[in-house]
Amino acid sequence: MKSYFPINADRIREDLEALARFNSTPGEGVTRLPFTKEAREACEFLKERFRAAGLETREDAIGNIIGVLPGKDRELPAAAMGSHYDTVYNGGMFDGQAGVISALEIARCLREQGIKLERDFVVIAFNDEEGVRFHRSYLGSYGILGRDQQQAIRDYKDRDGISIREAMMSWDMDPDRISEAVWDWKKVRAFIELHIEQGPVLDSEGLEVGIVQSVVGFRRYMVTVHGRADHSGTTPMDLRSDAVDTASRVIAWMGDFARSLNDGTVATAGYLRVEPCVENIVPSSCEFSAEVRSEHRESLDAFTEGLKKMLRESAELCKTGFEIVEKMDIPPVKLSRELCDRLEESCRSRGFSHKRMHSGAGHDAQEIASACETVMIFAPSRDGRSHCREEWTDFEDIAKAAAAAYDLVTGL
Ligand SMILES: [Zn+2]
Repeated sequence: MKSYFPINADRIREDLEALARFNSTPGEGVTRLPFTKEAREACEFLKERFRAAGLETREDAIGNIIGVLPGKDRELPAAAMGSHYDTVYNGGMFDGQAGVISALEIARCLREQGIKLERDFVVIAFNDEEGVRFHRSYLGSYGILGRDQQQAIRDYKDRDGISIREAMMSWDMDPDRISEAVWDWKKVRAFIELHIEQGPVLDSEGLEVGIVQSVVGFRRYMVTVHGRADHSGTTPMDLRSDAVDTASRVIAWMGDFARSLNDGTVATAGYLRVEPCVENIVPSSCEFSAEVRSEHRESLDAFTEGLKKMLRESAELCKTGFEIVEKMDIPPVKLSRELCDRLEESCRSRGFSHKRMHSGAGHDAQEIASACETVMIFAPSRDGRSHCREEWTDFEDIAKAAAAAYDLVTGL
Protein backbone atom coordinates (compact mmCIF):
# COMPACT_ATOMS: atom_id res chain seq x y z
CA MET A 1 0.00 0.00 0.00
CA LYS A 2 1.24 3.47 -0.88
CA SER A 3 2.10 5.73 2.04
CA TYR A 4 2.43 9.48 2.26
CA PHE A 5 5.46 10.49 4.25
CA PRO A 6 5.57 10.01 7.16
CA ILE A 7 2.07 8.53 7.43
CA ASN A 8 1.93 4.74 7.25
CA ALA A 9 -1.26 3.58 5.50
CA ASP A 10 -0.73 -0.08 6.50
CA ARG A 11 -0.63 0.86 10.14
CA ILE A 12 -3.87 2.84 9.77
CA ARG A 13 -5.47 -0.22 8.16
CA GLU A 14 -4.27 -2.54 10.94
CA ASP A 15 -5.64 -0.30 13.68
CA LEU A 16 -8.97 0.28 11.96
CA GLU A 17 -9.40 -3.44 11.36
CA ALA A 18 -8.51 -4.18 14.98
CA LEU A 19 -10.98 -1.56 16.23
CA ALA A 20 -13.71 -2.98 13.96
CA ARG A 21 -13.58 -6.26 15.87
CA PHE A 22 -15.25 -4.58 18.87
CA ASN A 23 -18.62 -5.02 17.29
CA SER A 24 -21.96 -6.43 18.50
CA THR A 25 -23.14 -7.30 14.95
CA PRO A 26 -20.26 -9.17 13.28
CA GLY A 27 -20.96 -9.85 9.60
CA GLU A 28 -23.67 -7.18 9.53
CA GLY A 29 -21.69 -3.97 9.72
CA VAL A 30 -20.14 -2.43 12.83
CA THR A 31 -22.32 -1.66 15.86
CA ARG A 32 -20.59 -0.11 18.85
CA LEU A 33 -23.05 1.83 20.97
CA PRO A 34 -21.90 3.94 23.91
CA PHE A 35 -21.44 2.32 27.32
CA THR A 36 -21.63 -1.23 25.97
CA LYS A 37 -19.18 -4.11 26.26
CA GLU A 38 -17.88 -3.39 22.75
CA ALA A 39 -17.33 0.29 23.57
CA ARG A 40 -15.44 -0.71 26.74
CA GLU A 41 -13.23 -3.05 24.73
CA ALA A 42 -12.60 -0.31 22.16
CA CYS A 43 -11.63 2.12 24.94
CA GLU A 44 -9.15 -0.34 26.42
CA PHE A 45 -7.70 -1.02 22.96
CA LEU A 46 -7.30 2.70 22.25
CA LYS A 47 -5.68 3.33 25.63
CA GLU A 48 -3.20 0.53 24.99
CA ARG A 49 -2.38 1.90 21.51
CA PHE A 50 -2.11 5.48 22.79
CA ARG A 51 0.31 4.36 25.53
CA ALA A 52 2.36 2.35 23.05
CA ALA A 53 2.70 5.56 21.00
CA GLY A 54 4.18 7.30 24.02
CA LEU A 55 1.11 9.40 24.83
CA GLU A 56 0.14 10.41 28.36
CA THR A 57 -3.15 8.53 28.31
CA ARG A 58 -6.32 8.83 30.35
CA GLU A 59 -10.06 8.30 30.18
CA ASP A 60 -11.97 11.41 31.23
CA ALA A 61 -15.09 11.75 33.38
CA ILE A 62 -17.46 11.33 30.42
CA GLY A 63 -15.80 8.41 28.63
CA ASN A 64 -13.55 10.23 26.13
CA ILE A 65 -10.11 8.68 25.62
CA ILE A 66 -7.35 11.27 25.61
CA GLY A 67 -3.63 10.94 24.83
CA VAL A 68 -1.12 13.78 25.05
CA LEU A 69 2.21 13.96 23.26
CA PRO A 70 4.14 16.55 25.29
CA GLY A 71 5.60 19.54 23.42
CA LYS A 72 8.67 21.63 24.23
CA ASP A 73 6.66 24.33 25.98
CA ARG A 74 3.82 22.78 27.90
CA GLU A 75 2.36 26.20 28.68
CA LEU A 76 1.66 26.93 25.00
CA PRO A 77 -1.93 26.26 23.88
CA ALA A 78 -2.12 22.69 22.54
CA ALA A 79 -3.08 21.37 19.11
CA ALA A 80 -5.85 18.79 19.43
CA MET A 81 -7.12 16.27 16.92
CA GLY A 82 -9.67 13.49 17.03
CA SER A 83 -13.12 12.14 16.29
CA HIS A 84 -15.56 9.65 17.81
CA TYR A 85 -15.28 5.94 18.62
CA ASP A 86 -18.98 5.04 18.72
CA THR A 87 -20.93 3.92 15.64
CA VAL A 88 -24.53 3.79 14.46
CA TYR A 89 -26.41 0.46 14.22
CA ASN A 90 -24.83 -1.69 11.47
CA GLY A 91 -22.53 1.10 10.35
CA GLY A 92 -19.03 1.04 8.92
CA MET A 93 -15.48 0.88 10.28
CA PHE A 94 -14.53 4.40 9.11
CA ASP A 95 -17.09 6.90 10.41
CA GLY A 96 -15.41 8.58 13.38
CA GLN A 97 -12.86 5.81 13.78
CA ALA A 98 -10.75 6.97 10.81
CA GLY A 99 -10.29 10.34 12.56
CA VAL A 100 -9.22 8.76 15.84
CA ILE A 101 -6.72 6.40 14.24
CA SER A 102 -5.31 9.14 11.96
CA ALA A 103 -4.63 11.38 14.94
CA LEU A 104 -2.91 8.46 16.68
CA GLU A 105 -0.86 7.77 13.53
CA ILE A 106 0.27 11.41 13.42
CA ALA A 107 1.40 11.20 17.06
CA ARG A 108 3.31 7.98 16.29
CA CYS A 109 4.99 9.58 13.28
CA LEU A 110 6.03 12.65 15.24
CA ARG A 111 7.70 10.43 17.80
CA GLU A 112 9.40 8.22 15.21
CA GLN A 113 10.68 11.25 13.31
CA GLY A 114 12.12 12.57 16.56
CA ILE A 115 10.07 15.74 16.11
CA LYS A 116 9.20 17.48 19.32
CA LEU A 117 6.47 20.03 18.64
CA GLU A 118 6.51 23.43 20.29
CA ARG A 119 3.13 22.69 21.84
CA ASP A 120 1.38 19.59 23.19
CA PHE A 121 -0.42 17.42 20.64
CA VAL A 122 -3.63 16.00 22.07
CA VAL A 123 -5.35 12.99 20.53
CA ILE A 124 -8.98 12.51 21.51
CA ALA A 125 -11.53 9.76 20.89
CA PHE A 126 -15.00 11.09 21.70
CA ASN A 127 -17.72 9.09 23.37
CA ASP A 128 -21.28 9.02 21.94
CA GLU A 129 -21.23 11.38 18.99
CA GLU A 130 -23.88 9.54 17.00
CA GLY A 131 -26.54 9.61 19.67
CA VAL A 132 -28.32 6.51 18.36
CA ARG A 133 -28.59 4.71 21.69
CA PHE A 134 -30.05 7.56 23.77
CA HIS A 135 -31.37 9.70 20.88
CA ARG A 136 -29.02 12.54 21.77
CA SER A 137 -25.69 13.40 20.11
CA TYR A 138 -22.36 14.91 21.20
CA LEU A 139 -22.16 13.61 24.80
CA GLY A 140 -18.34 13.53 24.76
CA SER A 141 -17.68 16.82 22.96
CA TYR A 142 -20.30 18.64 25.06
CA GLY A 143 -18.43 17.18 28.04
CA ILE A 144 -15.10 18.84 27.19
CA LEU A 145 -16.97 22.05 26.25
CA GLY A 146 -18.64 22.12 29.67
CA ARG A 147 -22.23 22.28 28.40
CA ASP A 148 -24.77 21.55 31.12
CA GLN A 149 -25.87 17.96 30.52
CA GLN A 150 -27.24 16.92 33.93
CA GLN A 151 -30.87 17.13 32.85
CA ALA A 152 -30.16 15.29 29.60
CA ILE A 153 -28.27 12.42 31.21
CA ARG A 154 -31.22 11.86 33.54
CA ASP A 155 -33.97 12.23 30.92
CA TYR A 156 -32.63 10.58 27.78
CA LYS A 157 -33.10 6.81 27.79
CA ASP A 158 -32.34 3.95 25.43
CA ARG A 159 -35.00 1.53 24.16
CA ASP A 160 -34.68 -0.59 27.30
CA GLY A 161 -35.42 2.42 29.49
CA ILE A 162 -31.80 2.82 30.66
CA SER A 163 -30.84 6.48 31.10
CA ILE A 164 -27.44 7.90 30.13
CA ARG A 165 -26.87 8.36 33.85
CA GLU A 166 -27.53 4.69 34.59
CA ALA A 167 -25.37 3.64 31.65
CA MET A 168 -22.52 5.75 33.02
CA MET A 169 -22.87 4.11 36.42
CA SER A 170 -22.71 0.69 34.78
CA TRP A 171 -19.23 1.78 33.66
CA ASP A 172 -18.32 2.77 37.24
CA MET A 173 -18.43 6.43 36.23
CA ASP A 174 -19.81 9.08 38.56
CA PRO A 175 -22.38 11.18 36.61
CA ASP A 176 -22.11 13.94 39.21
CA ARG A 177 -18.49 14.47 38.27
CA ILE A 178 -18.79 15.01 34.51
CA SER A 179 -17.77 18.66 34.95
CA GLU A 180 -14.25 17.32 35.55
CA ALA A 181 -14.07 16.58 31.82
CA VAL A 182 -14.18 20.29 30.85
CA TRP A 183 -11.14 21.69 29.03
CA ASP A 184 -9.57 25.07 29.63
CA TRP A 185 -10.04 26.43 26.09
CA LYS A 186 -7.46 29.18 26.55
CA LYS A 187 -4.97 26.32 26.45
CA VAL A 188 -6.12 25.02 23.05
CA ARG A 189 -4.69 26.55 19.87
CA ALA A 190 -6.65 24.48 17.34
CA PHE A 191 -8.88 21.46 16.88
CA ILE A 192 -8.69 19.26 13.79
CA GLU A 193 -11.15 16.52 12.85
CA LEU A 194 -10.42 14.15 10.00
CA HIS A 195 -13.60 12.35 8.91
CA ILE A 196 -14.92 10.42 5.95
CA GLU A 197 -17.11 12.61 3.77
CA GLN A 198 -20.24 10.40 4.08
CA GLY A 199 -21.48 11.93 0.83
CA PRO A 200 -20.74 11.53 -2.90
CA VAL A 201 -18.99 14.82 -3.79
CA LEU A 202 -15.28 13.87 -3.56
CA ASP A 203 -15.78 10.39 -5.02
CA SER A 204 -17.89 11.59 -7.95
CA GLU A 205 -15.46 14.40 -8.77
CA GLY A 206 -12.43 12.14 -8.37
CA LEU A 207 -10.87 14.33 -5.68
CA GLU A 208 -8.52 13.11 -2.93
CA VAL A 209 -9.03 15.52 -0.04
CA GLY A 210 -11.90 17.73 1.13
CA ILE A 211 -11.15 20.87 3.12
CA VAL A 212 -14.25 21.68 5.12
CA GLN A 213 -14.88 25.37 5.51
CA SER A 214 -18.32 25.17 7.08
CA VAL A 215 -20.76 22.74 8.61
CA VAL A 216 -24.37 23.21 7.57
CA GLY A 217 -27.02 24.34 9.98
CA PHE A 218 -30.37 22.66 10.05
CA ARG A 219 -33.93 23.09 11.16
CA ARG A 220 -36.48 20.39 11.60
CA TYR A 221 -40.23 20.84 11.97
CA MET A 222 -43.06 18.42 12.56
CA VAL A 223 -46.23 19.47 10.81
CA THR A 224 -49.70 18.04 11.40
CA VAL A 225 -52.51 18.90 8.99
CA HIS A 226 -56.06 18.31 10.22
CA GLY A 227 -58.80 17.47 7.74
CA ARG A 228 -62.02 15.48 7.97
CA ALA A 229 -62.65 11.84 7.09
CA ASP A 230 -65.45 11.59 4.50
CA HIS A 231 -66.51 9.31 1.67
CA SER A 232 -64.08 9.88 -1.20
CA GLY A 233 -66.81 9.41 -3.83
CA THR A 234 -69.73 11.38 -2.44
CA THR A 235 -67.93 14.43 -1.03
CA PRO A 236 -67.52 17.18 -3.67
CA MET A 237 -64.15 18.91 -3.92
CA ASP A 238 -65.46 22.22 -2.57
CA LEU A 239 -67.01 20.55 0.46
CA ARG A 240 -64.13 18.36 1.59
CA SER A 241 -61.27 18.98 3.97
CA ASP A 242 -58.36 16.86 2.71
CA ALA A 243 -55.20 16.71 4.86
CA VAL A 244 -53.05 15.08 2.16
CA ASP A 245 -54.18 17.54 -0.52
CA THR A 246 -52.82 20.26 1.79
CA ALA A 247 -49.64 18.47 2.87
CA SER A 248 -48.64 17.41 -0.63
CA ARG A 249 -48.66 21.03 -1.88
CA VAL A 250 -46.35 22.03 0.96
CA ILE A 251 -44.01 19.04 0.49
CA ALA A 252 -43.74 19.65 -3.27
CA TRP A 253 -42.96 23.29 -2.54
CA MET A 254 -40.10 22.28 -0.16
CA GLY A 255 -38.06 20.55 -2.87
CA ASP A 256 -38.83 23.23 -5.47
CA PHE A 257 -37.79 25.95 -3.08
CA ALA A 258 -34.48 24.28 -2.15
CA ARG A 259 -33.70 23.73 -5.86
CA SER A 260 -34.56 27.33 -6.69
CA LEU A 261 -32.06 28.65 -4.16
CA ASN A 262 -29.27 26.83 -6.00
CA ASP A 263 -26.88 27.36 -3.06
CA GLY A 264 -26.53 23.80 -1.77
CA THR A 265 -29.59 23.98 0.45
CA VAL A 266 -31.44 20.65 0.80
CA ALA A 267 -34.98 20.03 2.04
CA THR A 268 -36.49 16.68 2.99
CA ALA A 269 -39.85 15.38 4.17
CA GLY A 270 -38.56 12.02 5.38
CA TYR A 271 -41.44 11.17 7.69
CA LEU A 272 -45.04 11.02 6.52
CA ARG A 273 -48.07 9.55 8.26
CA VAL A 274 -51.60 9.58 6.93
CA GLU A 275 -54.82 8.80 8.83
CA PRO A 276 -56.91 6.80 8.28
CA CYS A 277 -54.80 5.77 5.27
CA VAL A 278 -57.61 4.05 3.37
CA GLU A 279 -58.13 4.33 -0.42
CA ASN A 280 -61.73 5.50 -0.33
CA ILE A 281 -61.65 7.87 2.64
CA VAL A 282 -60.66 11.54 2.48
CA PRO A 283 -57.57 11.77 4.74
CA SER A 284 -58.39 13.29 8.13
CA SER A 285 -54.83 13.84 9.22
CA CYS A 286 -51.38 14.04 7.68
CA GLU A 287 -48.27 14.38 9.78
CA PHE A 288 -44.91 15.07 8.09
CA SER A 289 -41.42 16.23 8.90
CA ALA A 290 -39.94 19.25 7.17
CA GLU A 291 -36.17 19.42 7.39
CA VAL A 292 -33.87 21.95 5.77
CA ARG A 293 -30.05 22.05 5.81
CA SER A 294 -27.90 24.86 4.53
CA GLU A 295 -24.62 26.61 5.16
CA HIS A 296 -26.47 29.94 4.71
CA ARG A 297 -28.52 31.24 7.58
CA GLU A 298 -30.59 33.39 5.18
CA SER A 299 -31.62 30.29 3.29
CA LEU A 300 -32.74 28.60 6.52
CA ASP A 301 -34.75 31.72 7.41
CA ALA A 302 -36.29 31.93 3.94
CA PHE A 303 -37.29 28.26 4.14
CA THR A 304 -38.97 28.73 7.52
CA GLU A 305 -40.88 31.77 6.32
CA GLY A 306 -41.89 30.11 3.04
CA LEU A 307 -42.94 26.90 4.77
CA LYS A 308 -45.31 28.73 7.10
CA LYS A 309 -46.75 30.85 4.28
CA MET A 310 -47.24 27.79 2.10
CA LEU A 311 -48.98 25.97 4.97
CA ARG A 312 -51.35 28.88 5.58
CA GLU A 313 -52.25 29.21 1.90
CA SER A 314 -52.67 25.48 1.27
CA ALA A 315 -54.74 25.01 4.43
CA GLU A 316 -57.00 27.84 3.37
CA LEU A 317 -57.43 26.42 -0.13
CA CYS A 318 -58.22 22.92 1.19
CA LYS A 319 -60.20 24.06 4.26
CA THR A 320 -57.93 22.29 6.72
CA GLY A 321 -56.16 23.24 9.94
CA PHE A 322 -52.53 22.68 10.90
CA GLU A 323 -49.93 22.77 13.67
CA ILE A 324 -46.21 23.23 13.22
CA VAL A 325 -43.68 22.39 15.94
CA GLU A 326 -39.98 23.22 15.73
CA LYS A 327 -37.95 20.16 16.73
CA MET A 328 -34.43 21.39 16.09
CA ASP A 329 -32.56 24.55 15.17
CA ILE A 330 -28.79 24.21 14.77
CA PRO A 331 -27.03 27.23 13.23
CA PRO A 332 -24.48 26.82 10.43
CA VAL A 333 -20.86 27.01 11.58
CA LYS A 334 -17.94 28.58 9.74
CA LEU A 335 -14.67 26.75 10.36
CA SER A 336 -11.26 28.44 10.62
CA ARG A 337 -10.20 30.19 7.43
CA GLU A 338 -6.57 30.22 8.60
CA LEU A 339 -6.54 26.44 9.11
CA CYS A 340 -8.30 25.87 5.76
CA ASP A 341 -5.59 27.94 4.05
CA ARG A 342 -2.84 25.89 5.71
CA LEU A 343 -4.47 22.64 4.66
CA GLU A 344 -4.84 23.88 1.11
CA GLU A 345 -1.15 24.79 1.05
CA SER A 346 -0.26 21.28 2.20
CA CYS A 347 -2.51 19.64 -0.44
CA ARG A 348 -0.96 21.82 -3.13
CA SER A 349 2.62 21.03 -2.15
CA ARG A 350 1.88 17.30 -1.85
CA GLY A 351 0.00 17.27 -5.16
CA PHE A 352 -3.32 16.06 -3.69
CA SER A 353 -6.38 17.05 -5.69
CA HIS A 354 -8.72 18.84 -3.31
CA LYS A 355 -11.60 21.22 -2.91
CA ARG A 356 -13.13 23.41 -0.27
CA MET A 357 -16.56 22.22 0.70
CA HIS A 358 -19.15 22.20 3.43
CA SER A 359 -20.23 19.29 5.56
CA GLY A 360 -23.88 18.33 5.24
CA ALA A 361 -23.64 16.10 8.31
CA GLY A 362 -23.11 17.15 11.92
CA HIS A 363 -19.80 16.44 13.67
CA ASP A 364 -18.11 17.00 17.04
CA ALA A 365 -15.98 19.68 15.32
CA GLN A 366 -18.99 21.89 14.67
CA GLU A 367 -19.59 22.14 18.41
CA ILE A 368 -15.92 22.61 19.24
CA ALA A 369 -15.69 25.45 16.69
CA SER A 370 -17.45 27.63 19.28
CA ALA A 371 -14.47 27.24 21.61
CA CYS A 372 -11.33 27.34 19.43
CA GLU A 373 -10.00 27.54 15.84
CA THR A 374 -11.37 24.42 14.20
CA VAL A 375 -11.11 22.70 10.85
CA MET A 376 -12.22 19.42 9.28
CA ILE A 377 -10.60 17.29 6.60
CA PHE A 378 -12.63 14.83 4.52
CA ALA A 379 -11.50 11.62 2.89
CA PRO A 380 -13.69 10.35 0.01
CA SER A 381 -16.50 7.87 0.71
CA ARG A 382 -16.91 5.28 -2.05
CA ASP A 383 -20.25 6.00 -3.81
CA GLY A 384 -20.95 8.41 -0.98
CA ARG A 385 -22.14 5.55 1.22
CA SER A 386 -22.00 5.80 5.02
CA HIS A 387 -24.00 4.76 8.09
CA CYS A 388 -24.36 1.37 6.41
CA ARG A 389 -22.22 -1.74 6.08
CA GLU A 390 -21.19 -0.74 2.53
CA GLU A 391 -19.35 2.29 3.96
CA TRP A 392 -15.84 2.32 2.49
CA THR A 393 -12.88 4.68 2.25
CA ASP A 394 -9.55 3.52 0.81
CA PHE A 395 -6.82 3.39 3.47
CA GLU A 396 -4.54 5.31 1.11
CA ASP A 397 -7.09 8.12 0.97
CA ILE A 398 -7.18 8.24 4.77
CA ALA A 399 -3.36 8.39 4.72
CA LYS A 400 -3.47 11.36 2.31
CA ALA A 401 -5.88 13.29 4.51
CA ALA A 402 -3.74 12.37 7.54
CA ALA A 403 -0.61 13.61 5.75
CA ALA A 404 -2.28 17.00 5.17
CA ALA A 405 -3.26 17.05 8.85
CA TYR A 406 0.32 16.13 9.79
CA ASP A 407 1.60 19.18 7.88
CA LEU A 408 -0.96 21.35 9.62
CA VAL A 409 -0.02 20.06 13.08
CA THR A 410 3.73 20.41 12.54
CA GLY A 411 3.23 23.88 11.04
CA LEU A 412 1.40 25.24 14.08
ZN1 LIG B 1 -19.03 10.52 12.41
